[in-house]
Amino acid sequence: HQDKKKLGIALVGLGSYSTYQLAPALQDTQYCYLAGIVTGTPEKEKIWADKYGIPEKNIYNYQNFDDIANNEDIDVVYVVLPNSLHAEFSIRAAKAGKHVICEKPMGMSVAECDAIINACEEAGVKLGMGYRLHSEPYTQQVKEFVREKTFGDILFVSADAAYRSTGNPNQWRLNKELSGGGALMNMGVYAVQSTIYGTGENPISVAAQEFSTRPEYFKETDETITAQFEFPSGAVGNITSSHNFNANAMYASGTSGWFRLQPANNYGPLSGVTSNGDEIKFPHESQQKLQMDDFARHVLFNEPNKAPGEMGKRDMMIVEAIYKSISNGGETIAL
Ligand code: NDP
Repeated sequence: HQDKKKLGIALVGLGSYSTYQLAPALQDTQYCYLAGIVTGTPEKEKIWADKYGIPEKNIYNYQNFDDIANNEDIDVVYVVLPNSLHAEFSIRAAKAGKHVICEKPMGMSVAECDAIINACEEAGVKLGMGYRLHSEPYTQQVKEFVREKTFGDILFVSADAAYRSTGNPNQWRLNKELSGGGALMNMGVYAVQSTIYGTGENPISVAAQEFSTRPEYFKETDETITAQFEFPSGAVGNITSSHNFNANAMYASGTSGWFRLQPANNYGPLSGVTSNGDEIKFPHESQQKLQMDDFARHVLFNEPNKAPGEMGKRDMMIVEAIYKSISNGGETIAL
């Protein structure tokens, strides 16, 4: 298998994540490479073509994108657009017969997640989420602690994913039509995920609260949301997501000890400690490189899909329940 060609990836949407994380990571990947680009900004075409040696026939815009169906250089389409465009381009990619990686959050709603999953099933293509943490070692270590009960049964988990936004008030992340929501859609998915791999369980209920201190800046999207989860074992958890302050951590407490990652969800290096006094420490590698190689190995060799579409849908169900709880005045919502 090792001599099979590298998969060709086309990045759709050449914004900051594609420019500063994914394209550089694709220079180091072993099982895939940057084969094409899809952009709505003509000036970016030549810059990227020159920088990465991308042939003109592998450059598309949002209008002629569907022609990618006829391009054998492209095996995987990676959707790195504002959230409101994830479903449209994931579905168009699947219909073009390409495997799909979709950035988080998967869509604007659970219904959009279902539409993406169905389109990929119908087309017989693989679907992965851009959940880079599932490929990096600190998160694997946390999952192992939980699986092996290294600190006993986990009874409590807490996770924060937040940063202080002060930039352009017209950015798409603050525009509900393009983002689907604010801090919860953008950062909250990391905190939700931390509580799930920190307990090894999916929550069965959620209650949530919203806080606002800068309504003139956050005109239509949530600034800060906290939520409490109950898990089937009886474990409880809480999350914070915010665009108003910096916070990046997870903590889990079990019957015989605890562990903490801080930071827990940025690009790394992550850092952690346990109640044994041990530092959790691994050599740093690009998370995006590990993630894209994992997906490529899933496609090439049928290795496990570490972040399947169902996981993106599950997280969106929780996000929707959190928003529902808030609109119902903090009511507990069953999941
Ligand atoms: P940016 O705003 O930096 O880039 C988005 C790009 O999408 C633009 O540069 C543009 O590319 C294209 N685009 C198409 N239509 C629009 C539109 N109406 N408004 C704005 N941009 C448009 O966003 P990011 O790169 O930070 O985020 C993109 C996606 O990646 C999001 O879904 C985000 O949640 C996700 N992300 C994930 C991260 C992770 O760690 N997994 C980290 C950061 C982001 P062009 O000019 O080429 O058309």
